Amino acid sequence: MKYDWLNDYLLNKRGVTKDLQADWNWIRYHIGGKMFAAVCLEWETNKPYYITLKLEPAEGDFLRSQYEDIIPGYYMNKVHWNSIKPDGNVPDDLLKDLLDKSYELILGSFSKKKQREILELSCCGTECKKCSFYGNMCKGCNECLGKVFHAPAGRACPIYECSVKSKKLRNCSQCAELPCTIWRETKDPQLSEEAFEKNVEERVNNLKS
Ligand code: SF4
Ligand code: SF4
Repeated sequence: MKYDWLNDYLLNKRGVTKDLQADWNWIRYHIGGKMFAAVCLEWETNKPYYITLKLEPAEGDFLRSQYEDIIPGYYMNKVHWNSIKPDGNVPDDLLKDLLDKSYELILGSFSKKKQREILELSCCGTECKKCSFYGNMCKGCNECLGKVFHAPAGRACPIYECSVKSKKLRNCSQCAELPCTIWRETKDPQLSEEAFEKNVEERVNNLKS
């Protein structure tokens, strides 16, 4: 297969798991337990013969008409799924874009709260399970619906208020204002400016990964 980057590319996406469906000889990539991509392997050689992914039907249709190496999903729903020949003429950048879209489509099929849980990220890009308060002073932002102990009494943290409750986003990654003034105004006073900037950068990277 010419796309030798594919396995690493998919496993680097947040929340992705992989298995081998032995009865079909397919390597499957899942998000939240649902498949979003597969590499179908030949029985004798284990060589890939199709890469399968999900697209919006109109986009799948269009691409099938443009590339002979993109066909209706092999052994899948042919409206929603597409199979790509692994040694054909589909450009690498296009395939990466299609894999991203498939991942987003499947992830987006869960509730927003579930999406944050699958990604193990709060709406502001914090990995609560890595926080020293997690499990003792705090159950994490998703669990307590933003009413973290450092938020104003009885209220959700302003970032949660804005992204989840008001804008109804999965998280701030879906907002053009990231990182916004609310992020700046919720700086932990114990952090130096330098440490805060690093923290913002890390959270933005988490959200964009
Ligand atoms: S204090 Fe709570 S909400 Fe904030 S990062 Fe830690 S665990 Fe998450
Ligand atoms: S304005 Fe955008 S980046 Fe800022 S808290 Fe709201 S959703 Fe997040």
